[in-house]
Amino acid sequence: MTDPDVLIAGETLVDLFPTTTGPLANAETFDRRAGGAPANLAVAMTRLGTAPYLWTRLGADPFGEHLADVLETQGVSDRFVEVDADRKTAHTLVGDDPAADQSFVFYKEGTATMAMEPGTVPDETLANLEWVHFGGVMLCEAPVRTAMLDLAERAQAQACTVSFDPNTREDLWADPADLEPTMRRALELADVVKTDREDLSVLLETIDQEIASVAEELLAYGPHTVFLTRGAEGTYGMATADAPWGPAETDQPAFDVDAVDTTGAGDAFTAGTITALLAGRSLSDAVTFGNAVGALTTTETGAMEPLPDREAVERLIAAQ
Ligand code: ADP
Repeated sequence: MTDPDVLIAGETLVDLFPTTTGPLANAETFDRRAGGAPANLAVAMTRLGTAPYLWTRLGADPFGEHLADVLETQGVSDRFVEVDADRKTAHTLVGDDPAADQSFVFYKEGTATMAMEPGTVPDETLANLEWVHFGGVMLCEAPVRTAMLDLAERAQAQACTVSFDPNTREDLWADPADLEPTMRRALELADVVKTDREDLSVLLETIDQEIASVAEELLAYGPHTVFLTRGAEGTYGMATADAPWGPAETDQPAFDVDAVDTTGAGDAFTAGTITALLAGRSLSDAVTFGNAVGALTTTETGAMEPLPDREAVERLIAAQ
């Protein structure tokens, strides 16, 4: 197998989903699933035949062992999968009522993922990579924030394409005042941003305006390419003349599928677009490919199990 061209950085988590509906406080039994947006993305790209490195940090505990097993089974390289002998593995409770006070609870304090350290991925590795992706959840507090920004800075210096998914969860931030300057810095370091209208509301003045204005405002922070996903309504993409795939604008509806669970659709979309752009496809083709990967992921429950391979994606595209 050839060495990966891509590195994804961030959290791998155990997500615990109650097997019954209603308040989390009443849940008695849970389904355990591997999760974390960067881990989902790494598995999605592997399924598409573009296996990346995943830089992540697990605890030396049963959850960590389980996640290491899942990543291995899914074919993700363990080169940058760290195991922290002194810390536990991060996990979340994922409720089904976003309006509830606590529908998503992140047990992160003192965990291995929050102890990711700058410099772990050496410059020599970055020099051989084409693309580095980081997510926003691990920007919520130092020191892991420093680790992520350091990676993005060094990747930028090595001329990698840097992509970023803010995935903003304001309640995770130890100091909410850090959110705006940190997101601003992340956008300066990123070439490609995948987000949605609400995700970066902390930075946006055009949030209520037409989608092209939102994209232009985001591009002004530094990236050359922005993808704004809209769930069942599809994706808007815009790239400037600085983009290797050239200046372009595209607005595409979602594929018409019977969606049952949209968990991980955004990560699947990102996997599809990165895979297509690395293969030299246009912005428009990359959005089509990403939308198809996202759509197929919604047709079964879970973020990882339903991820399609390249043939399934091409079949859906050809059928529409
Ligand atoms: P996120 O999970 O980051 O919120 P979205 O829900 O916007 O991301 O989904 C990402 C992409 O996945 C969408 O742009 C779309 O192409 C696809 N997708 C999501 N939900 C559906 C759906 N119900 N039907 C078809 N495609 C979908």
